[in-house]
Amino acid sequence: MAHRVDAQVLVFHVDLLIVASVAVLALLSLPRLLARFSRRVEWNQGLFLWHSTQVYVRAEPVHASRVSADRQNRPSDLSDSGTLRSAGGVAADEKERSTSYPRHVPAWSTSLHPFAVILRYPIAPRVSLGQLLLMAAYFAVLLYAGLYHASPFQQPVRAAYVAMSQIPVVYVLATKNNVISVLIGIGYEKLNWFHQWAGTLLVLAANVHAIGYIYKFSQAHTWLEHYHHTYIKWGIVGLVSLDCLFLFSMSILRTRAYNVFYATHQIALILFLVAACLHQSIIIPYVAVAAGFYGLDLLFRFLKSRVVTATITPIPEFGITRIEIPQLNAGWRAGQHVRVRILSSKMGLWGWTEFHPLTIASTSHGSEGLVLLCKMTGGWSKKLYDLTRGGEEGESTAVVGKRVKVVLEGPYGGPGHCVFSSYSGALFIAGGSGITFPLASIQELLRRSSEGTSRVRFIQLIWVVQGPGSLSSLIPLLSSLLQHQTPVNLQISVYYTRATVLPPSKVDLPDGLTLTPCRPNLARILDDAVNATINMKSEGALKGMIVGVCGPVMLGQDVCRSLGHLNSSQRNAVGGVELHEEYVFLIVVFT
Ligand SMILES: Cc1cc2nc3c(=O)[nH]c(=O)nc-3n(C[C@H](O)[C@H](O)[C@H](O)COP(=O)(O)OP(=O)(O)OC[C@H]3O[C@@H](n4cnc5c(N)ncnc54)[C@H](O)[C@@H]3O)c2cc1C
Repeated sequence: MAHRVDAQVLVFHVDLLIVASVAVLALLSLPRLLARFSRRVEWNQGLFLWHSTQVYVRAEPVHASRVSADRQNRPSDLSDSGTLRSAGGVAADEKERSTSYPRHVPAWSTSLHPFAVILRYPIAPRVSLGQLLLMAAYFAVLLYAGLYHASPFQQPVRAAYVAMSQIPVVYVLATKNNVISVLIGIGYEKLNWFHQWAGTLLVLAANVHAIGYIYKFSQAHTWLEHYHHTYIKWGIVGLVSLDCLFLFSMSILRTRAYNVFYATHQIALILFLVAACLHQSIIIPYVAVAAGFYGLDLLFRFLKSRVVTATITPIPEFGITRIEIPQLNAGWRAGQHVRVRILSSKMGLWGWTEFHPLTIASTSHGSEGLVLLCKMTGGWSKKLYDLTRGGEEGESTAVVGKRVKVVLEGPYGGPGHCVFSSYSGALFIAGGSGITFPLASIQELLRRSSEGTSRVRFIQLIWVVQGPGSLSSLIPLLSSLLQHQTPVNLQISVYYTRATVLPPSKVDLPDGLTLTPCRPNLARILDDAVNATINMKSEGALKGMIVGVCGPVMLGQDVCRSLGHLNSSQRNAVGGVELHEEYVFLIVVFT
């Protein structure tokens, strides 16, 4: 006698297993979440953009007078420079500074070392061994649910149950204001690979279900009879919506025609939910959960949106548009991004409707406000760059910039529940335009150090660029960072891999900044940075070192490998080493 299986209960158990796995991850992340939000200052950081009256004014660099003169003649720099001081000059006297460091809670994954290092091992661009294993395990669970006492040709309804169980998972992982992301402390964009995988399995299951029934009906010569049923027609509409979603999401199409991908996604994701409900009413509760998460996301997107006037300025050396919004100067954390829409008819027929993600390149509470750097890569960014032409001319023929209305939505992503200022040391490694993330992070750490709220005593920045020409535009900002008045030991090393123009002479470089014509030896740099943190005078036990990397995927993979080679006695002595990856989708753009 055939074993009877209640498919609805089976897939419900699959969903319970998924919820339980998320709950375990959430529990493991809970100590970090509590530590982060136990400080009131964190309550309004990283959720909404706002205007603060407490602004940290910057002084001009005092040593680099020549640099300063250069800067006045330059049309525009990647960022304004200045020593970080509080409005009341708080930074000056360390003796008067009262300290209140954030509680340090190491990531639960650090206790899995060296297992965690093996799991991080890159198998392919953007895929680690850990991700691959998780994807395989997830597939195995769904395969089990799909095939347990069922044949895809004899019981094609089973695959439909599996597809149904995946609807809430796929939709919740697609949201920007993502509840899983909040619970486990990982930005939505870093969970996107799992949304894609669960989505692929949903499409696969739906197609197996459809093919199974087509086969069954064809064998019984009843296809035409069934076709006239309304629920079958809605089933076909749902299937076509899913297949369109899948087809236009393939990276070959998504990277070439993002707008087509976006438009088909928006239409098909709603059409599929409607069609699924009209196909079989049993799906309605699953659709309701998915629609609930999606609706909540739309509400938060609206609440997180600000319509503001931005000043846009071209940076011709790099083909970059600098977007500055002084009226929004607080509410984000280093590494977060915003979605930007430019409200100008000059952006083209559809250009003004498009939202594009850009990483925030300035620090919260800084005097310049929110700054974004947008590299010309395709149609939208080129139109934005062209829009900057015709800006007002300022003193010394410097372009003052053009004012334009923009919608900013965010902030999103970033370091999650990881609080950089709770570590004893920080090493930032950036490739090309990935420098925006360390610049914002270092400014934030120095500001917090001047307030007495950062434990970090050693910071090293490694910036890998193609040519030394990239550096000149950033020298004013880097020298101002090096002139900080905090107890932090800051070192900046720039490496260039292609010598195309004459490098700046050594005398032009401020103390603490080195320029080297080769690829960096990341393993040795990591080793030295750990030793430097260990040797720093610190109050109490060392609380570990954070390694932040941003840039091309290959750079991130090299850093992962170097972390694997780090000596365990050093790792223990420093209190653990953690990696935070922030990948900007621009490869090396500075030449
Ligand atoms: C989290 C995140 C942070 C980013 N930060 C920066 C930054 O600080 N500076 C910067 O210059 N660029 C950044 N980018 C990349 C930037 O969003 C794209 O370069 C920009 O959207 C390109 O649009 P385009 O039409 O000019 O180019 P296209 O040639 O149409 O696209 C170039 C690439 O960008 C992707 N893309 C296009 N439109 C979008 C969109 N609306 N949303 C998401 N991806 C899109 C495409 O898939 C393609 O791979 C970031 C991207 C992400 C995902």
